[in-house]
Amino acid sequence: MSKLIASAAIRGAHTLVKQTEELLEKTTTEKGKDFTFEFPDTAFYLPMIYAMTAFPVKTLGDMKVALGMAKELLHDEPEEHLWKPYLGEALDSGMATLFAEEILLALKYINGLEPAKDPETGYVYNGFITDTIQRSLGIQLVDGTMPGFAAIIGAAPNDDIAVNIVRELQEKNILTFLSGNVNGNSVTKQLVRKGVELGWDTRIVPLGPDTEHTLYALDWAMRASLIFGGKKPGDYKEHLKYQKDRVFAFAMVLGELDDIKWTTGAGAINMGFPAIADTDIPVIHPTGVCIYEEVDKELDHSKIVQKVIEVRGLKIIVEKPPIPVAYGPAFEGERIRKEDMFIEFGGTRTPSFEWVRMKELNEIEDNKVIIIGDGWKEKYEKGGQMPLGIVIDAAGRKMQKDFESIIERRIHHNINEAQGLWHMGQRDLNWIRISSNAKKDGITLEHIGVVMTTMTHHRFKSIVDKVQVTIYTDEKDVLAIQEEARKAYKDRDQRLGSLTDEAVDIFYSCLLCQSFAPSHVCVISPERLGLCGAYNWLDGKAAYEIDPTGGNQPIPKGALMDARYGRYAGIDEYLKKASAGAVETLNLYTIMENPMTSCGCFECIIAIIPEANGIMIVQRGHTGMTPAGMKFSTLAGSVGGGTQNPGFMGIGRNFIVSKKFLHGDGGIKRIVWMTKNLKESLKEEFNKRAAEEGVPDLLDKIADETVAEDSEKLLEFLTSVGHPALGMEPML
Ligand code: SF4
Ligand code: ZN
Repeated sequence: MSKLIASAAIRGAHTLVKQTEELLEKTTTEKGKDFTFEFPDTAFYLPMIYAMTAFPVKTLGDMKVALGMAKELLHDEPEEHLWKPYLGEALDSGMATLFAEEILLALKYINGLEPAKDPETGYVYNGFITDTIQRSLGIQLVDGTMPGFAAIIGAAPNDDIAVNIVRELQEKNILTFLSGNVNGNSVTKQLVRKGVELGWDTRIVPLGPDTEHTLYALDWAMRASLIFGGKKPGDYKEHLKYQKDRVFAFAMVLGELDDIKWTTGAGAINMGFPAIADTDIPVIHPTGVCIYEEVDKELDHSKIVQKVIEVRGLKIIVEKPPIPVAYGPAFEGERIRKEDMFIEFGGTRTPSFEWVRMKELNEIEDNKVIIIGDGWKEKYEKGGQMPLGIVIDAAGRKMQKDFESIIERRIHHNINEAQGLWHMGQRDLNWIRISSNAKKDGITLEHIGVVMTTMTHHRFKSIVDKVQVTIYTDEKDVLAIQEEARKAYKDRDQRLGSLTDEAVDIFYSCLLCQSFAPSHVCVISPERLGLCGAYNWLDGKAAYEIDPTGGNQPIPKGALMDARYGRYAGIDEYLKKASAGAVETLNLYTIMENPMTSCGCFECIIAIIPEANGIMIVQRGHTGMTPAGMKFSTLAGSVGGGTQNPGFMGIGRNFIVSKKFLHGDGGIKRIVWMTKNLKESLKEEFNKRAAEEGVPDLLDKIADETVAEDSEKLLEFLTSVGHPALGMEPML
């Protein structure tokens, strides 16, 4: 490693440790050493320190101990005349820096300085990244929608270059974190000046104005091995290896480097994240011994994104329809306000619907877009509101009627991913807007059809051989064909309702999360969807048709060994192989004995409450206390990582209203506590199920956070309403 880099990294670490020590002393004098602190919504204390050392920092006193560990990693700067390998020293210093930065940021939180606010514009940075965000983005990371993360540190030479780089990352679906500055200027400020929409929705997340704030991105990465990887706190080698092998992050350093940037970079190199600069720095390539280091440069800003992708080895698959606006998942979260809108369809303002129909190959013409309606061009040009019916006809040798709904569900993403196009709802309750900017860029009605043909082909390659789109614009046509569509929706729903675990011979696995949680397997049956909520049985079936060697494999369910608990010979046999022996047997319908494993991206967690002889359910994002005595974040910390935890389980939200929900434990009557959010969002379906179980008013008997957040109050409530669980056979 270059002496210049090593010296800078070592010096920077000293500076940061000293700075942190001063703030720690000052804060401890004011608040006392027992003052407690936790970052918002995390179960992992100071995640970097916790993962590396297993030491849970809870108080200012603990911070002093942890800073002591950082100090032990400090080294002296290399001497002028002495040439020795500096790598170890520099990497140690990098780690010391990450510890110091983590404590420093915690102290800033305590002192009310985080999340940072830009004094000029009032812009509030993201600050610490919560566990909830880590979990909810989990699926996009594993299914490849989001191929990697960039941490951009510093400022581009000018505002336009900053926009170009970020747009290129967005189009490649890379999640981008921003931090640091060059003489007060930063990419965040450059984007704000250019009116670029920032935040999680657009995948550009400003963490804070200083280099130290990069630590939030590293902290986030580190939680992947804690949450999904099931790596033990303190097993630092395993954590670092996991980061290098599975977390596709890299840094892009724009503008001059200083000691703090070098030393933070050295910390990141420990985690296997390379850094590319746009300045003339010494380059370090991996050698036989030091596989972890990689520092490179690319002075041409139009090539820098491509360069980092090569260095980090990212796989980027992007399909863009031939339309005159940018396209990609990063534009999905963009909203179009009324003032910015050119035209809208549906949303109860005009009749509208969207419908996918299966056709025979000879019935349609591939990639054809037909628009029907008197003077539709003039009507569109006027803007405002317009009726709209979209019919997508799909044909293919492997096409099945069951796949219509799956293709239809993608319409939402197909439209939203175009910059300046917005979509909400589905079926005959859809709502589409086109922005004035997109109109200026040349978006026409035909482009909606083009987006559909291109993306349907792309997403369903081996199912769909031909796609034809017909767009209706006359109110009477829209209304007439909407009636036909409604009949089809109804037939479909009936078919779905008749799909039971008994009615099929094949279940599907989902192995997507194995890239993060290597022993986790989701077993998806018609009546139990994947725990992330994103994959049901039909999705599994379609995905297998699309890619027979992909992440969804058929599981012949085999002989039924236990009807009550849902144990099948075929599942057990499959699991042993697919989990590499980690899971031997599984019961689909209970949490008490060999329940399904959890990866980490579950929508909800079920936990047993022994005192109440029942279970509680809390969803991701709920930050309050639960009667299990733990918040979601803490519960989640003990459920993930691909292990079976009797009494605890991660599930998809819709499983709650399935007939098979905890069938072996007594079904929905076991639910004694559930968040208000879940109660409200599942109300209709839940009441139907409750009536079937003979307790039509069950929902009112289930407590939520407004009634009880501890088991004592919970029991009081359950007794007062006569909850059925109290009279059921003991769970334990
Ligand atoms: Fe991961 Fe299971 Fe969702 Fe597949 S279904 S993405 S394995 S959580
Ligand atoms: Zn998962």
